[in-house]
Amino acid sequence: MKNPKKLIVITGPSGVGKGTVVKNILKKDKNIWLSISATTRKPRKGEKHGEDYYFLTIEKFKEMINNEMFLEWAEFAGNYYGTPVNIIKEKIKNGYKVILEIEVEGACQVREKFSDTISIFLLPPNKKELEKRIRSRGTENEKSILQRLERADFEMSSSKDFDYVVKNYVIDKTTDEILKIIS
Ligand code: 5GP
Repeated sequence: MKNPKKLIVITGPSGVGKGTVVKNILKKDKNIWLSISATTRKPRKGEKHGEDYYFLTIEKFKEMINNEMFLEWAEFAGNYYGTPVNIIKEKIKNGYKVILEIEVEGACQVREKFSDTISIFLLPPNKKELEKRIRSRGTENEKSILQRLERADFEMSSSKDFDYVVKNYVIDKTTDEILKIIS
């Protein structure tokens, strides 16, 4: 892929606030495009196909893996998630910076494939606060909450492998910090 500095990966454990920070970034910089991932997870209340995710069957997702249609993909908390590659190439060609908001394993794949990516790891203030944030979202059942928290330990231990580590205390401050890194 040409011009890889235009690819920005934001990662960190589930519940750290990646989605909220990314939404803020998109409001402040219209030259940034957020990749829409594919997933086999069932839609949550209010989530729309083609806006929040492409919600796919496992068969369709595996077909896309076999046809090399993902830039990266990973299994997370019992579901598959992946980044469709073609649209990203197109957006970068058209002058956009592209943000991927993805979990840690996928983020590592992107870093290995494209060493010139900007990679940013968001950390919670502490594990207790992370649990509070996941629970207060009210989107997961207990099994999924525990799966996500269990995975968070491994994920946070990988933070040192990324270009920038930002502790997400206050959303507005975190957003400004990331905008500064990107520019
Ligand atoms: P959720 O189910 O909460 O929407 O997402 C679970 C995790 O999967 C989050 O950490 C989210 O950032 C990550 N994720 C979303 N899309 C992708 C993707 O395309 N690839 C990978 N590797 N992770 C993703």
